[in-house]
Amino acid sequence: MNTIEIGFDLEHRDKLITVTSPLLPDLGELVKFLEQIWKYRWLTNNGPFHQKLEAELCKYLKVGYLSLFTNGTLPLITALQALRVTGEVITTPYSFVATTHAIWWNGLKPVFVDIDPVTCNINPDKIEEAITPRTTAIMPVHVYGTPCDTERIQAIADKHGLKVIYDAAHAFGVEVNGKSILEAGDMSTLSFHATKVYNTVEGGALITHDKETKQYIDYLRNFGFSGETEIVAPGINSKMDEIRAAYGLINLKQADAAIESRKQVAMWFRDALKNVKGISYLEDMPDVKHNYAYFPIFVDADVYGMTRDELYAKMKMRNVLGRRYFYPLISNLSVYRSLETADPSHLPVANKIADSVICLPMYAGLTKEETDRVVAQIIK
Ligand SMILES: *Cc1c(COP(=O)(O)O)cnc(C)c1O
Repeated sequence: MNTIEIGFDLEHRDKLITVTSPLLPDLGELVKFLEQIWKYRWLTNNGPFHQKLEAELCKYLKVGYLSLFTNGTLPLITALQALRVTGEVITTPYSFVATTHAIWWNGLKPVFVDIDPVTCNINPDKIEEAITPRTTAIMPVHVYGTPCDTERIQAIADKHGLKVIYDAAHAFGVEVNGKSILEAGDMSTLSFHATKVYNTVEGGALITHDKETKQYIDYLRNFGFSGETEIVAPGINSKMDEIRAAYGLINLKQADAAIESRKQVAMWFRDALKNVKGISYLEDMPDVKHNYAYFPIFVDADVYGMTRDELYAKMKMRNVLGRRYFYPLISNLSVYRSLETADPSHLPVANKIADSVICLPMYAGLTKEETDRVVAQIIK
């Protein structure tokens, strides 16, 4: 058996424009690295490829200390553990479910705060009124890779003695004034899932600011082992293996080109959509190096003459797959709806944006013809 039955026909698939398509490393280079792994038989537990990828990512991302993880959710869970967060954690409902799940998995209470209508990030003006004597941390998200107002969030955190953990799953390579956004707060996390700007198939990382903290995180991701028989804390297993680290090393070489290609796609979309009444999109921010992780559009149904869901369905019918990302809002999911802060009247901006957003197809290598086909569904 040399191949397996995939279950969908590639020919039909070619006519589809999918919302994303993974960045794949050169297969020949990967095979060479695999041969080395087979030869040395070192598959996981901080092997040479793992060490090399941590070093290369630190350099590429301009950060001091980074620990690789097996996905982007476990670093969120581990950061809350490492910082001994208790009680309540202030967060945003406008994110991927993993952000709130990580809080829940630590036995903590998520407290939702509304978002800013321009950036889609947690609104700093609303954070202080959500603080109670039980609040110990803030977990904001750099949504779509747009930087949060990290200075204001830090000032609030300092005033009230709170920890700040950024879910930076979307913010690979994002810089403000030449400095990595990942250096903000106490810790930041990344996801290297197949759908992200840079991927290791599944994978993730936790960014810390000193050697001792990184060491502690490295213990926690390996059951808490600090030596052959020593356990420093009840850790978990969230290590990345050598095969994915090797894949990640090769893929990192294309990261700059991939972001450049995404930027071109964003420019084509912005140019084509700038005069479409009732459709808006995000603009670049001054002094920010963006990564163009997503291209969300926001549908104002009254002006556009069609609801978001109608446009979404119409695109789908024509084989252009958008994604309502993020919809439904985390606070509206049945598992979180009973929280006091989940009430839609408390989160008007987040609800409005979740009901109007469609992320257009966006990935490195998307062609002008394909973006034209996407735009044609929106303009007609
Ligand atoms: C992708 C993502 C995660 C989770 O990452 P995984 O690698 O899929 O576990 C967490 N938060 C946000 C905002 C994400 O987009």
